[in-house]
Amino acid sequence: MRKINIIATLCCAIFCSQCTSAQNKDAMTDHKGNPHYSRTDTAHLHVSDAEWKKILSKEVHNIAREKGTEWAFSGKYWKTDELGTYYCAVCGNPLFRSGAKFASACGWPSFFESMRPNSVRYEDDNSHGMERTEVLCGRCDSHLGHIFDDGPPPTHKRFCMNSAVLEFEPDKK
Ligand code: FE
Repeated sequence: MRKINIIATLCCAIFCSQCTSAQNKDAMTDHKGNPHYSRTDTAHLHVSDAEWKKILSKEVHNIAREKGTEWAFSGKYWKTDELGTYYCAVCGNPLFRSGAKFASACGWPSFFESMRPNSVRYEDDNSHGMERTEVLCGRCDSHLGHIFDDGPPPTHKRFCMNSAVLEFEPDKK
């Protein structure tokens, strides 16, 4: 009887550890409902807003496709200083490295350069009575934030981004 109990306990431990590791993996890479998500495919996407609306959460859709802005100091990455890469939360495009992130007082995650010149693209934005330059994902055209000329050297640029449209993955140790 004791032998059966030991075997049952071992089976349970193995099953539970596999279950936990599967859950962790899903939490890191759960983009099953998004057929356009890829961290390696650089082909430009042409997806209708109706389709994005079905795929994205309300919060991400509001910022990415309706050009919304999250509240300052409210996003998950404005204070993050770990080493790693920031991907587009909509399509998986690699956008920024942690080495280009700096502590900005503005309350949004801020970078002085994008990972590659074509990681992002720019458009004039004259909304809300301001003249600004909008930053969009170079692959899926999602709104990410704006760029300003008050950043630190070497570029003196400040990519002022919304955490909700970024996805951070720490470097492997
Ligand atoms: Fe994207």
